[in-house]
Amino acid sequence: MHCFLIVKKYNTKFCKIKNILIKNFILISYLLECEQFITEDFLMSEKVELFYLSKMELLAGIARILKDYKVAALTKDQGMPKYDYINQAGDIEFSCVPTVLSPKKFFFPAEEELLTYETNGKMHTEIAAQPLVIFGLHPCDLHALKILDEAFAEANGDPNYLAKREQGIIVGLDCKSICDKRAFCYRVASQEIAEGFDLMLYPLAEDFLLRVGSKKGNEFYQRYFKVTTATEKMWEEYARAKEQGFSQKHPFRKLEQFPEIFANNEDHSFWQKEGSRCLSCGSCIMVCPTCYCFDVSDELDLNLQGGKRTRKWDACMLSDFAVVAGGENFRHSATERLQHRINRKFNYLMRKHERSVCVGCGRCVRACLADINPQTIAETIADEKE
Ligand code: SF4
Ligand code: SF4
Repeated sequence: MHCFLIVKKYNTKFCKIKNILIKNFILISYLLECEQFITEDFLMSEKVELFYLSKMELLAGIARILKDYKVAALTKDQGMPKYDYINQAGDIEFSCVPTVLSPKKFFFPAEEELLTYETNGKMHTEIAAQPLVIFGLHPCDLHALKILDEAFAEANGDPNYLAKREQGIIVGLDCKSICDKRAFCYRVASQEIAEGFDLMLYPLAEDFLLRVGSKKGNEFYQRYFKVTTATEKMWEEYARAKEQGFSQKHPFRKLEQFPEIFANNEDHSFWQKEGSRCLSCGSCIMVCPTCYCFDVSDELDLNLQGGKRTRKWDACMLSDFAVVAGGENFRHSATERLQHRINRKFNYLMRKHERSVCVGCGRCVRACLADINPQTIAETIADEKE
């Protein structure tokens, strides 16, 4: 099979790439041109295979997949972009547009039955996992999914989430430009990704470059897609278009120091300024692709013979989230809750995941009636305006 190879030369995160071997010759000048947006993550894998896939063949492949799998994709509902199940390839939206909810809902639904029980002590776990192909996850959502994968795999692991992920096939769709003015993926190094997908599509003018990201993806594309050789020129064309799309877009210079910076700025006056405007509605949490708190409740049947246990998304921005037995609330004010939420993204969980846990998708910014924005907060706390 013909393929287009890129071989990694450096392994320091966020460093500028100086060399790349493409079909055995080094294109230093090309990379220096592209260094503004090509971070090390983009070329993280040792060997990258790229193929050419025409849009016609892609649609034909999706039609074949639909015969074997349930398929979800970026599509439209009453004119609004949305990740949803589709019935035909023509339903897929191939543009880079933001959605209200992220694709995390397919693996971690807003409400999910965990088990049913009988009052005699018997329990039956419910794991509603099924093979699912998801098309069109943008880099920010792929970064978010990686964070969820790590979170739900911790300790004994979350069997419901992990079973669904195990059966999922992820087909990413790279963004050639920023999707709207509220997204800031490029500030938190989430505008590109080199792993966390089974297949990745890079949109050319009409057609696509296809990248294989896993063994599962390798088997999958061979079964469903008719690909041909990708040339250096195609990749070059794509890289230039992406460079243009993200020109003048710069990451936080001090991003890696955010945990310390946020820890040292607990008393910054901006917290009170922003917190005093917060309505404690929780919308920002509901739409966030990296928030994973949930609440669990038991519901007893009317006949008292049994019941079910359900979990639902919860939100640390809601005023009663931190209420404990006895009625004490250890995060009374909206300011405390906002500070906690933003520290989860740029401090507490950033230490654990070793990356910004805000992927800059902008969903919370679009959802917030008070116009509270993690980018603005980070720029103020880190004293680093764009
Ligand atoms: S905090 Fe906001 S911008 Fe960041 S990942 Fe969550 S929803 Fe997206
Ligand atoms: S969406 Fe805005 S107003 Fe609502 S809880 Fe979040 S920050 Fe506060």
